[in-house]
Amino acid sequence: LVRSPELEQTVLAAMARTLPRDRYPICFLHLQLCPSQIDWNRHPAKAEIYLQSLSYWQEQVTQVIEKALRIGAANFSEASQSQRVGKLLKVSEEKGGYSLSRSLQATEGNERKTPDIGLIELQAVAQVHKMYILAEHPTGMWLVEQHIAHERVLYEQLCDRWQLIPLEPPAILNHLSPTQIEQLQRLDLEVESFGEQLWAVRNAPALLQQREDCADALLELSLGGDLQGAQVATACRSAIRNGTPLSLPQMQTLLDQWKVTRNPRTCPHGRPIYLSLEESALSRFFRRHWVIGKSHGI
Ligand SMILES: [Zn+2]
Repeated sequence: LVRSPELEQTVLAAMARTLPRDRYPICFLHLQLCPSQIDWNRHPAKAEIYLQSLSYWQEQVTQVIEKALRIGAANFSEASQSQRVGKLLKVSEEKGGYSLSRSLQATEGNERKTPDIGLIELQAVAQVHKMYILAEHPTGMWLVEQHIAHERVLYEQLCDRWQLIPLEPPAILNHLSPTQIEQLQRLDLEVESFGEQLWAVRNAPALLQQREDCADALLELSLGGDLQGAQVATACRSAIRNGTPLSLPQMQTLLDQWKVTRNPRTCPHGRPIYLSLEESALSRFFRRHWVIGKSHGI
């Protein structure tokens, strides 16, 4: 067993904002490379290596993980892979309690070919408890939690375009500590003294500008975290709340936006966004293979 700390960092970076805090991915990487590409002169016990063409491999690994995190043709049906992965996980983390997939597992020999997600119509059919979107697709149905699905959409939009716009009038905050002021400035917010224990913030992230709770949101941002943390907080605050009634067209729009995100499986805090109920698993649950009249005695 050897380590390449750089590749480990690459894996972690590629999985950033898809996992819960303090949780780490298990990743099986199979690299095929010429022995001359490995430099063993790194560690006295030869436990760590230098890889030649490191940036090439880092890019390959990043791309592969990115692909694996999307909902695509290759990984849409996880059932076929999960048995093998399940065995490997059992060996490596006996008590890990990893959930292999968020789908109700399809059973052996019962897997169906699933079409590419691009062709799949994920159709909103109902809202349940003002919290879940029930979405139908050709080989089953999904329960999508509306708040975090929207949070994922907004978060990726914010990562692509973090835009600060002027606040007119400015938001007034009181009793800011010097650390809080510094934090706001680090996020490129314009803060100036506005009198006794008062500060005016003259710009804000675009999503927050129109909100009634804009000042609260800015206060939250002043409490710490890097830019990414600010983007997560802003996405969370701006996303549709659970408990909000949605019309079918609204749900459909959300599903269409969400399914093409880069990491549709988890929210930026690492929570799963959807529960998949595949027809093959449902069919087994409802014992649809029973031959009525024989096994049932009817
Ligand atoms: Zn949230």
